[in-house]
Amino acid sequence: MTGRILIAGAGPAGLGAAWRLQELGYPDWLLLEGAGHPGGLAASFVDARGFTWDIGGHVVFSHCAYFDAVLDSLFAPGEWTFHEREAWIHMRGRLLPYPFQHNLWRLPKAEVADCLAGLIEARLRPAAAPRDFAAYLLARFGAGLCRSFLFAYNGKVWGYPPARLGCDWVKERVAEIDLERVVRNTILERDDPDWGPNRSLRYPLRGGTGGLWTRCAERLPQERLRFNAPVGAIDSGARLVRTRDGVEHRYDALISTVPLPALCGLAGLPGLGEQNLLSTVTHAIGIGLAGAPPPELPRANWIYFPEPDCPFYRVTLLSNYSPHVVPDPSRHWSLLCEVSESKLQPVDAGRLVSATVKGLVATGMIRSSADVISTWHHRAAPGYPVPSCGRDAVLDRITPVLEARGIYSRGRHGAWKYEVGNQDHSFMQGVEAVDRILLGKPESVLDGTRVR
Ligand SMILES: Cc1cc2nc3c(=O)[nH]c(=O)nc-3n(C[C@H](O)[C@H](O)[C@H](O)COP(=O)(O)OP(=O)(O)OC[C@H]3O[C@@H](n4cnc5c(N)ncnc54)[C@H](O)[C@@H]3O)c2cc1C
Repeated sequence: MTGRILIAGAGPAGLGAAWRLQELGYPDWLLLEGAGHPGGLAASFVDARGFTWDIGGHVVFSHCAYFDAVLDSLFAPGEWTFHEREAWIHMRGRLLPYPFQHNLWRLPKAEVADCLAGLIEARLRPAAAPRDFAAYLLARFGAGLCRSFLFAYNGKVWGYPPARLGCDWVKERVAEIDLERVVRNTILERDDPDWGPNRSLRYPLRGGTGGLWTRCAERLPQERLRFNAPVGAIDSGARLVRTRDGVEHRYDALISTVPLPALCGLAGLPGLGEQNLLSTVTHAIGIGLAGAPPPELPRANWIYFPEPDCPFYRVTLLSNYSPHVVPDPSRHWSLLCEVSESKLQPVDAGRLVSATVKGLVATGMIRSSADVISTWHHRAAPGYPVPSCGRDAVLDRITPVLEARGIYSRGRHGAWKYEVGNQDHSFMQGVEAVDRILLGKPESVLDGTRVR
């Protein structure tokens, strides 16, 4: 293809597209971003007291050599902090190492027996291919684990019961089960946190997660980046984008990272089924604290909270990632809490900060609300694209209609695929969209086939 390429959005996906266009030396492209800064959901903010906050716990655990190489070209090794993942689950008034199923022994004995019995029964009586996430969890993990943790935690994160979610997306996102390992760990009372794709993590030393994307945007030609330029309408027949201030931009291909339902509306193409795409709103609540983290958690990264004694499903010990996210690391530390809101799980946003502080005290994360010296609240809507039953059929209907009009909807909420919706995936979706448009190369991140 030749002609003008427009990009809508300067989050990781839009910046990935811009990066690749620049790398290829393509002469005719422009990026339009609605906000005044780059980063999208991966941006960071500094509050009035000097605490730095991300929109929920963000770490880099890349799947892609290309993405890693870009980050390495932007940041010297000394500009990162590196971590071996230390994640915990808070339930029954105690902490269990993550993943849950490998660390059952810390639960009350009757619950351990229930979990093991369910696991063994699931293994002995394999179920038919599951149709939804609840059936998938029951078939893989058994009724005991589902009752103890999996249903409660997943319900809290997704804002919908697991039966509303499909199961094709799961793959590496849910820890698999090794029955022998589970039994051994349980009998030997052995902690076993060693699982998963995000075992080794890195985090920017300065600027929070958003520091990555600020630097990335700085390396691009500034005259091709327009901030405070939200796309207000798309005439997909004439291939024209109009920003809200009335300026028109012609395009031959549009790489959009705008959330898909909103994009259908902007392009005058509603009714493609996009109303059936479920999402959650993510509330990120930052709590800046005087003092130091609990002595038992000096290196913890994050903690899951499946129980109803607090509104949050996860708390990140953000100040354990970098000393520069707090004003003075010798006197301050910080917690970043995430709360999911959905149609089925309403949230009283006005009371969320106080409910969060209360929950932190109730769960023993902080001693007293008197330690709180700063609070921050960000509402990300949407925050999670829910991989609901029937999602793929909706996407299969929308995608060809958009692409026939030269619109490539990519990124976390552009493609609406949670399982390929992290920063590395999103950035690579932008890169691969460009390669497809200009070089005719097939994309692979989008359908989950690619790791490069
Ligand atoms: C709570 C939470 C935790 C996360 N944790 C991790 C993690 O640990 N590791 C990880 O890798 N990823 C994580 N992510 C995912 C990460 O945030 C996303 O991968 C990434 O931000 C997606 O990039 P994107 O460009 O696709 O979309 P976005 O970041 O959403 O960017 C889209 C951009 O489009 C702009 N836009 C929207 N509408 C318009 C319009 N009409 N006109 C112009 N511009 C518009 C927006 O302002 C935004 O800048 C997490 C996300 C959340 C919510």
